[in-house]
Amino acid sequence: MTEIAKNLNQLREQIQQLAQRHGYRADDILLLAVSKTKPASAIRAAFAAGQRHFGENYLQEALEKQGELADLPLEWHFIGRIQGNKTRPIAEHFSWAHSLDSLKHAQRLAEQRPAPLPPLNVCLQVNLSGEASKGGVAPEQLPSLAEQVAQLPRLRLRGLMTLPAPASDLAQQRRPFHQLAELKQRLCAQGLALDTLSMGMSADLEAAIAEGSTLVRIGTALFGSRVAGQGAG
Ligand SMILES: *Cc1c(COP(=O)(O)O)cnc(C)c1O
Repeated sequence: MTEIAKNLNQLREQIQQLAQRHGYRADDILLLAVSKTKPASAIRAAFAAGQRHFGENYLQEALEKQGELADLPLEWHFIGRIQGNKTRPIAEHFSWAHSLDSLKHAQRLAEQRPAPLPPLNVCLQVNLSGEASKGGVAPEQLPSLAEQVAQLPRLRLRGLMTLPAPASDLAQQRRPFHQLAELKQRLCAQGLALDTLSMGMSADLEAAIAEGSTLVRIGTALFGSRVAGQGAG
């Protein structure tokens, strides 16, 4: 068995146990393999071990790997910062975008999503820490953005995503995830049909699952650590 297959099995077991511990169904939690900075061969190894969903942050790198892996039926998720002049490749080459935080970008993605493809699944990224350097919409602006994005053709608003500042203890890690889950509930109460909470990475997996994550984005625990300086969201 490859190292990646071993890690994948371990992760699946861990998700199973954490879901059970916190009263959720592991079947309701999608494991997204974050493959940024990792070669196509690593993705191939994960695919061979049953992994279908892969997340990438950098467009050029993602498109190159997609080309090398065109023979495999993979689902690609864009999880990096979205730049206004680079929405077209996201609309054309991904099935999900997790980091949407502006109406302008949403409108472009909707216009650019090719008609033969199913709608692009999108999550709105919420900035819960107030860090100016981070992407994401402020919680106060979320309801109106969500209403508007939900109206757009060719997009399917699936839920919310957040990328919290690192914290070391479980209680502290749970706080932003709890907030995100509450925000989603409120939007659902307003009539939006959201089914996704994209939250949790290698270091805060348990906190995210404890707060009801439905999609965990795991890089390091699956593929090993990345070279320093690469991989900031
Ligand atoms: C890199 C990245 C991840 C994965 O982080 P790990 O700590 O390696 O598991 C998840 N989400 C986003 C947005 C990322 O940029």
